[in-house]
Amino acid sequence: MSDVTVSQFADALKVPVDKLMKQLDEAGIRVSGADDRISDEAKSELLSHLRRAHGRPSEEVATSGPRKITLKRKTQSEIKVSASLGRARTVSVEVRTKRTYINRGVLEEQARHAQEEIDRLKEVEDAARRAVEEEQRRKADEEARRTEDEKRRRSEEDARRVADEDLRRQAEQRAREEADRSRKTADKPARIEVDARETKSYHRPELHVSTDMTSRYKKKKPLRGRRGVSAPADGRHAFEMPTQPVKREVSIPETITVAELAQKMAVKGSELIKTLMNMGVMATINQPLDQDTAVLVVEELGHTAKTTRADALEEGLQTAAAGSEAAPRPPVVTIMGHVDHGKTSLLDFIRRAKVAAGEAGGITQHIGAYHVTTPRGIITFIDTPGHAAFTSMRARGAQVTDIVVLVVAADDGVMPQTIEAIQHARAAEVPILVALNKIDKPEAEPDRVKAELVQQGVIPEDYGGDTIFVPVSARTGAGVDQLLEALLLQAEVLELTAVGDGPAAGVVLESSIEKGRGAVATVLVKSGTLKSGDPILAGQEFGRVRAMFDENGGAVESAGPSIPVQVLGLSNPPNAGDEFLVIESERKAREVALYRQGKYRDVKLATRTTKIEDVFSQMEEGRVQIVPVVIKADVQGSAEALRESLTRLSTGEVAVKVVGSGVGGITESDVMLAVASKARIVAFNVRADGAARAALKDNGVDIRYYSIIYEAIDDVRDALSGMLAPEVRDQIVGLAQVREVFHSSKFGQVAGCLVAEGYVRRNNPIRVLRDNVVIFEGALESLRRFKDDVNEVRAGTECGIAVKDYNDVRAGDQIECFERVVVTRTL
Ligand code: GDP
Ligand code: MG
Repeated sequence: MSDVTVSQFADALKVPVDKLMKQLDEAGIRVSGADDRISDEAKSELLSHLRRAHGRPSEEVATSGPRKITLKRKTQSEIKVSASLGRARTVSVEVRTKRTYINRGVLEEQARHAQEEIDRLKEVEDAARRAVEEEQRRKADEEARRTEDEKRRRSEEDARRVADEDLRRQAEQRAREEADRSRKTADKPARIEVDARETKSYHRPELHVSTDMTSRYKKKKPLRGRRGVSAPADGRHAFEMPTQPVKREVSIPETITVAELAQKMAVKGSELIKTLMNMGVMATINQPLDQDTAVLVVEELGHTAKTTRADALEEGLQTAAAGSEAAPRPPVVTIMGHVDHGKTSLLDFIRRAKVAAGEAGGITQHIGAYHVTTPRGIITFIDTPGHAAFTSMRARGAQVTDIVVLVVAADDGVMPQTIEAIQHARAAEVPILVALNKIDKPEAEPDRVKAELVQQGVIPEDYGGDTIFVPVSARTGAGVDQLLEALLLQAEVLELTAVGDGPAAGVVLESSIEKGRGAVATVLVKSGTLKSGDPILAGQEFGRVRAMFDENGGAVESAGPSIPVQVLGLSNPPNAGDEFLVIESERKAREVALYRQGKYRDVKLATRTTKIEDVFSQMEEGRVQIVPVVIKADVQGSAEALRESLTRLSTGEVAVKVVGSGVGGITESDVMLAVASKARIVAFNVRADGAARAALKDNGVDIRYYSIIYEAIDDVRDALSGMLAPEVRDQIVGLAQVREVFHSSKFGQVAGCLVAEGYVRRNNPIRVLRDNVVIFEGALESLRRFKDDVNEVRAGTECGIAVKDYNDVRAGDQIECFERVVVTRTL
């Protein structure tokens, strides 16, 4: 985030500028005026200062020990109250805070949170202090009354003790019966719980302030004091460190494992785990901790934490070789078009004719892309059909396609997916080249199809446009050479270039895990040269190129711009559309990958927690309506695109919950998932198998088949709209002017009115307006015309109005009559 001025920051924090300046000053951050810029470091310094500062009051009251860590998971302080009854009373204040984040990106937001947190804590402390004062006051009163009350009090005390004893016995009896009945070991704590609850209020007033649900795990803690194991009054432990501990500055990356963190602080892993446990974090030695937790535990152990800047790692990753000249590169082509128009046949023909030629017995494997060598140059085809794949890659910022070949069957013409393909290509600003396929067929009508395409704005050169049309047959191969020539021509016009030297960068086209080979990724090199042995970073994955293969399954040693290769050696399969980079070392690649994983996880957690919190809080109020869906699609790209688009339809009131999402045909288990979660199934280019069809029929699951994403989105949007609670709107139906006001013994105040507009109905709600300001809203007591009660009075008519529960209507006021109308809403 860029630096902001003090006044902007103050604005974001919602504190007055001068207060912020003062706080900055206290934090030792030098600023000369409100227009001074403050850096992110300064902000986090201020934040930690504020956190330190707020902790002080409670420490002063509670402990004299040098407790410095503030805003941790739990703050426990005890306030001792000298009592008159010989027994000291201790009010323990336990404040649990949620973790606070210091992520740079949301710093202002968090600073505000911290402020709120501080305010809240102060409130809690105030409440505690008030409680203590109250207690003391009460004590003092008691003291005064003590002598005369002593007798009575004693007998009362006795009675109370008896009652208490009784209660306890009863509770124990009950618990025992319970235990006898169920004979389960779990009943033991339950008994103690009962015991504690029943007796607590009599013996020891506990002020237990908790902001955290998990507090129930600690319930038994305060009992200890009662049982006489009470801690020293100042709250310090009996054991003290014999020597001054070494204070370390510990740098903390975005994620760090418990073991790594322990090593950095030079403590035993087990000790760290114990500390974490005390903070309420259960962790194993190899568990990665997020930065915030790590910071807290480092501070807990008395060291200072220094977070490494979140994006520092990402800097300097661009590895393009300096000083290298960009050279022409082959075009990268994607084939799109309506189903059955011959995309696969065309790709296959080109591959058979051009790729496999001369490869003796070479088994061509599907690697998601291939390149062909023609006498005039190389062309790379991306063989991940489906517009969704194209678009989802683009959505990730990976534009790999230079030219779209739009396959249109000459015997069929422009169809829905043809139009979709045109839209996708246009959106990506990629030139289209039309392949009029199936011209070998006698029923082919290339001219009619041309005309249809013109209607879509795809205009051939002979019609005065700039789109190249090539008639082809994927069956006979007619026109295929011309198509390839046209592609190279188009590429020349586009002047495609790339730097061919230096470390490679590119895009992941496809990835999977293969038996015996591990993670396999097909990547397209966009610049530089990828070599065997290169350390690489691909999205969140890292590794070293163990082996590379071309589209024929032959091992290759290097790949330059626009050349697709299959890469072995990544830690896990990256996502299609991820960027890959060659990094100077595998260690660095690993570090960045782990950082990205951490970041990704944080993002995921953050979005999920807010979502779930929102949903839960609203569900409690019964406000959120959920539309659960199961998504099945032909390729991962479509599934992801659908998941994203559908989830994005959610509002505060209605939400799409994707309970399942996957690739491939619909199976019985998908149906069962849908049944279990009362979900509808959104099937994109996939069909149900036999067992699934039977299950669908038996269970009456709502399943819809789509081949166009937008239609799926529209349907789900409709479903959501249907769940929107209808909106109730006020509609003003009439207005009456108050002429004069009478007082009747029978009706109280009666306003003599003239209905100026619309009508006034006896049973409609009304508002009283004075100078066009609403001063009262309610109902009518009576509506009369002359001496008769009436139900409605229309415009231009005089009437007497008595307003229910309101006696201050004056001449000159207006009475507005309205109706509540129910309006159905749409998203
Ligand atoms: P895709 O769905 O676009 O991939 O279309 P396919 O490549 O699967 O082709 C659909 C059908 O059209 C198959 O039966 C092909 O054999 C047939 N087909 C494809 N191209 C041609 C062609 O040029 N001529 C003829 N006669 N049939 C073709
Ligand atoms: Mg196909």
